[in-house]
Amino acid sequence: MAACLQQLFSYYRVVVKIGSAVLIDRKTGLRTAWLDSLAADIAALQHAGTRVLIISSGAIALGRILLSFSSTSLRLEESQACAAVGQIELARAYADYLQTYGLRSGQVLLTLADTEKRKRYLKARAAVDTLLKCGVVPVINENDTVAANEVCYGDNDRLAARIATMIGADLLIILSDIDGLYTMPPHECSDAEFIPFIETITPEIERMAGVAASEFSRGGMKTKLDAGKIATNAGIAMVIASGQRFHPLKAIDNGERISFFCADNKPVNARKVWIAAHMDSAGSLMIDEGAVEALFAGKSLLAAGVVAVSGHFLRGEIVAVINRQGHEIARGLVGYNAAEVRKIAGHRSDALTGLLGYEIRSAIIHRNDMVVYFE
Ligand code: GLU
Repeated sequence: MAACLQQLFSYYRVVVKIGSAVLIDRKTGLRTAWLDSLAADIAALQHAGTRVLIISSGAIALGRILLSFSSTSLRLEESQACAAVGQIELARAYADYLQTYGLRSGQVLLTLADTEKRKRYLKARAAVDTLLKCGVVPVINENDTVAANEVCYGDNDRLAARIATMIGADLLIILSDIDGLYTMPPHECSDAEFIPFIETITPEIERMAGVAASEFSRGGMKTKLDAGKIATNAGIAMVIASGQRFHPLKAIDNGERISFFCADNKPVNARKVWIAAHMDSAGSLMIDEGAVEALFAGKSLLAAGVVAVSGHFLRGEIVAVINRQGHEIARGLVGYNAAEVRKIAGHRSDALTGLLGYEIRSAIIHRNDMVVYFE
């Protein structure tokens, strides 16, 4: 994987995420001339052999204009109604503009469970893969009309990263109302500096991301960095670029200012990619400093290093592993249920059989079932 951005046609599969604020003008609705210029850029890439997937927000933003909802905060059922109305218009617009350039598009609406439950994930992947092989441009959004608050992505940044890992993309482009990452939110701090190149998303980089989101878009810089972690951990490079300008993809090729996030080039297997990209965790394990070192050295997590357990997870579920500062350093498939981990936490391996009353099976999380961050 190249350490710097190549011309876009040299990528195999590119996921382009389009934010609501880019696509929808709150007074006039859909930015049709912009959409036309995006469709032209996508056609150029498709003709060069690069497969493009669109993850588009904007259903709720467009729906609220069409339904004349004026209040700033919508109730859940109102935003679901807006999504239903807006999504059908969005799908029509993408189909029409892509068609102008000879491209066929296909709408895919997903819920969190479609990407988190392994069987559903594999089915969704097969369907999207088939669309790509047929030369169709998938236009993907969260199925907002049925997704309820606690069990949804809520922002399309992470959904886009998840799709990128799912279909083996090599580049994720986030088109936003901001042209990249700054040391501080640029609209609030005049001395904010632009960061064009990010080799690793360290905790320091994460601190730079404010939580800001606009009325029209749900994700701020934080969800973009979350997306960046999912993508780069899976070996996918990420670009944050302005979606305000016309021909936004051509602009990237022309060297306009962007932030580029390097792909992690450690080989990771598909199982680990799937674990790393999980949004939900059933619980978390806090571990001591010795265990943190052991994980960074590539070892499994043993009971002795666990200092606290939260959540009601079952064996085989995904749990987060956090250090004493509460920072997530790993996640993985846990080998025991929560009650068992509570019993054996802090104890050495030779005491575990006595505590549990049966022969111990394995580590708390085996290293093959775990993804460690910031190694
Ligand atoms: N899925 C939402 C929509 O289409 C947008 C989520 C987001 O802003 O990221 O309206």
